[in-house]
Amino acid sequence: MTGITDPCHPETVRVAAAHQAEAEKIAAELAAIAATGMVLPGSVTQRRTRCGRRNCACHADPPRLHGPYWQWTRKIAAKTICRWLSAGQHRDYTPWIDNDRRLHELLTRLEALGAAAFDADPRWERQASQPASRTGTEASA
Ligand SMILES: [Zn+2]
Repeated sequence: MTGITDPCHPETVRVAAAHQAEAEKIAAELAAIAATGMVLPGSVTQRRTRCGRRNCACHADPPRLHGPYWQWTRKIAAKTICRWLSAGQHRDYTPWIDNDRRLHELLTRLEALGAAAFDADPRWERQASQPASRTGTEASA
């Protein structure tokens, strides 16, 4: 798949106006989120627990479990990291986690725009008779 675009003539691939407008909207929201600096990967789960004391209400029927507690979880290099959050930390960091999720949604939309433009490239038509041209996902390395 080499030689489709000439690096000296990047205008070979044009971005449609609607594509450009959408990309600018995405970029503005990405920048606004990034500028807050409040971005945290991972997720928070609410947990309620039982203690070890037999006579505690958490062992009654129906049980009154302890909590709620909030557990932040993140995977780092296939290892799951967990930390308990205080109520204040939960309140403060929830928007950070929401921001991180939004950043990923925006990047996914940006990638979808690029993928749609790539698929719509009219040069695919000209290559239709060549082997292994259209889908490309199994391209050899
Ligand atoms: Zn208990």
